[in-house]
Amino acid sequence: MKTIKDFNFKNKKTLIRVDFNVPLDKELKVGDRSRIIGAKPTIIEVLEEGGSVVLMSHLGRPEGKEDKYSLRHIVADVSDVIGVKVKFAEDCIGKVAEEAVKNLKPGEVLLLENLRFHDEEKKGDEEFAEKLSKLGDIYINDAFGTAHRAHASTTIVAKYFEDKAVGLLLQKEIESLDKVLHSEEKPVTAVIGGAKVSSKITVIENILPKIDHLIIGGGMAFTFIKAKGGKIGESLVEDDKQDLALEILEKAKTQNVQVHLPVDTISTQKFDNDAETKVEDITAISDGWMGLDAGPKSRENFAEVIKKSKIILWNGPLGVFEMETFSKGTIALAEAIAEATEKGAFSLVGGGDSVSAAKQFGFDKKVSYVSTGGGAMLEMLEGKSLPGIEALK
Ligand code: AMP
Repeated sequence: MKTIKDFNFKNKKTLIRVDFNVPLDKELKVGDRSRIIGAKPTIIEVLEEGGSVVLMSHLGRPEGKEDKYSLRHIVADVSDVIGVKVKFAEDCIGKVAEEAVKNLKPGEVLLLENLRFHDEEKKGDEEFAEKLSKLGDIYINDAFGTAHRAHASTTIVAKYFEDKAVGLLLQKEIESLDKVLHSEEKPVTAVIGGAKVSSKITVIENILPKIDHLIIGGGMAFTFIKAKGGKIGESLVEDDKQDLALEILEKAKTQNVQVHLPVDTISTQKFDNDAETKVEDITAISDGWMGLDAGPKSRENFAEVIKKSKIILWNGPLGVFEMETFSKGTIALAEAIAEATEKGAFSLVGGGDSVSAAKQFGFDKKVSYVSTGGGAMLEMLEGKSLPGIEALK
């Protein structure tokens, strides 16, 4: 796979698939610019070498051409972040787009209208992809968030290009995960939390041979605790996954992975921030009560493991962090990871809700890398190859 260092962009028109799927508020103003900021390094690299840039992205899930999903609304923000006045094409294919590209000079940036205004994008339509391919000499994919989708602009378009490369953001995602899963340094610790065992089984099975410690937390821990004979009250459980939970524990043993389960929990009778709570032994939860967060002893145990780790992967919260009452386990974990990172460990937060948790509590700046793609990172953790990356090879 080629990187952008392998090309000279002088006088070249570069078609870059970015992920500008940013949140827009009611007034259609950009709420969080991180995705635009994430795409900046690649864009700047091309411009500084004397190339021009054609940006394509999707925004939201429009049904047809819905104005509220027009990428026109983000032009000012993209211009501001990149520091170049960005031009806009009212369509992403056809005459309008081709004319705009033709008139583009070195150092200029053009943003195309929302790709998903055409149904063909999500269908991975070949004809549509070929039309997109007319809009650049070189193709770069820098949209990690959609790299697990075989859409026209993320995957299919690549086959019409001789010259194609992985963008800097996408490259960083791949390298960060590689650092975690193929590390020379030890110990490697993975924290897997979140709601369900079923959604994380493939992840756990794939990473077991590559880690030394596995911390299991969140709602999924109760399936393990119950399978081992614990009494979990009304806590979240997947009864049909109990055997699988025991199998995972057995596999971990044979692969010399130390598994750390919570030993206590913050229990409540109601799924409510203001409900009464108590700390309980996780194997002896009262009837009618459920565990919604890691208890103090568990937090301590987990922090101890984290602090001696050299490589840390965190996926999934340790409790119902959306409610303050049940966010302490997740915060304590994030604090321990931040501390270990400060002392030289490499930490990667990725895949779904742990990213929002890290951001919510301001820990995104205190870890080594926060992945930008929830679903895409989960699939990579599962050991799957992503179509968007495969297409660049
Ligand atoms: P996931 O998307 O699988 O990472 O799951 C994240 C969700 O798990 C969050 O919305 C949390 O509120 C939820 N969660 C974490 N711990 C628990 C728990 N003990 N009981 C119920 N839900 C939980």
